[in-house]
Amino acid sequence: MVTNVAILGATGSVGGAALDVIARHPERFRVWAVTGHHQVNKLADIARVYQPEIVGVGTRPEESCEAYYGHGDSKSVPRPEVVSGSIGLDAIATCPEVDTVVAAIAGAAGLPSVASAIGAGKRVLIANKEPLVMMGSYLMAEAANAGALVLPVDSEHNAIFQCLPRAYRHTVMGQFARESSTVTGGRYPWNVAAVTLTASGGPFLNTPIEMLTQVTPTQAARHPNWSMGRKISIDSSTMMNKALELIEACVYFSLPPSAVRIVIHPQSIVHSLVEFEDKSVLAQMAVADMRVPIANALAYPERIASGAATLDLAEIGSLDFLTPDTERFPCLNIARTVASAGGNGPIVLNAANEVAVDEFCAGKIRFTDIVPIVVETIERMPFADISGIEQVLEADGKARVLAKEVSSRHEL
Ligand code: NAD
Ligand code: MG
Repeated sequence: MVTNVAILGATGSVGGAALDVIARHPERFRVWAVTGHHQVNKLADIARVYQPEIVGVGTRPEESCEAYYGHGDSKSVPRPEVVSGSIGLDAIATCPEVDTVVAAIAGAAGLPSVASAIGAGKRVLIANKEPLVMMGSYLMAEAANAGALVLPVDSEHNAIFQCLPRAYRHTVMGQFARESSTVTGGRYPWNVAAVTLTASGGPFLNTPIEMLTQVTPTQAARHPNWSMGRKISIDSSTMMNKALELIEACVYFSLPPSAVRIVIHPQSIVHSLVEFEDKSVLAQMAVADMRVPIANALAYPERIASGAATLDLAEIGSLDFLTPDTERFPCLNIARTVASAGGNGPIVLNAANEVAVDEFCAGKIRFTDIVPIVVETIERMPFADISGIEQVLEADGKARVLAKEVSSRHEL
């Protein structure tokens, strides 16, 4: 049977990797829908190759359609349905013909469509970590209610997913209520003692701290091992990416922040590890290629070819592991505090970071202003409990206004 896949964010780095894996298995997968935001010509090229039924564009469908039909060899262009904006994204995420949704939009903009896909009971492959940070426990509970299969695509979480016992994994997939993961003798379900997320350390792992004030957006986006979109690349340089991933891990695997460790691993070969009560540690390894976790999640529980290169450990020679320097990377401790406190904290952290990264990319603030802006926004925003998506969006909006105000005082 062919699985119909919708790729939200098909013009991005993860979206492109997902298309590549799917193209290797035409007998298994059909691209039913693709979406993109600004890169209309790239979206048109994708649509020409994959011939989806539906294309989701940004906010101006007429212009996009014109670009779509007017671009390249128009005679051979199939005519998919074109939908637009957040309504279009929602329609694709809940489309009855779609079996699997790949959530690969960058940032909080992906939240409504992730929530819709989960609510519609789809198999949802989540790369887009920001919605999980903002309202992960709500989304996981919703997945259990709606019978959605939530599968992690973020490489670290996919690695942990692969190392966990099958029964534990199923809590991630939302098939069982969270309560069913009762403790069976260990500190956490199925005798899991802790998980360890690996982090490359980004491009500034060894840069003298006093030189960081001069860093440009291009330098910050130059990740040593992974080729990724701009926002996540800059998050990797501040290690905010790992901070978000710490919160993401707590959500996926029902663990407190104290059970999520971070280790710097500059080679990005070990993607994460799980320690059990007996002190056995399982790790997942592969070359740094997002097609590996994407193929794993697309075919789970089966295994399919991803197109990634074979891991040659002898050629790599040695793997290094270091304790993160929390003075250089203060985001890690901030995330622990925020994740422990709960409420609106993770939403504020994420929103302030998105604002600060945008301001940095626009040349308005220094690289070293990003984290202080996030910290001040968190400190000044009153704590609030969150119980539904409306409150999440409200908290996100308020945090963005405050973060902009804080950021304006740092303007160059
Ligand atoms: P990217 O910038 O390359 O692509 C982002 C995609 O989202 C594009 O298709 C863009 O058109 C779309 N988009 C952006 N803003 C939008 C909006 N307002 N509305 C609708 N669509 C919008 O980003 P990426 O590197 O592919 O990352 C996507 C997500 O996956 C992020 O949340 C990132 O943290 C996560 N992720 C990425 C990687 C990676 O290797 N790139 C690894 C792990 C997790
Ligand atoms: Mg990751």
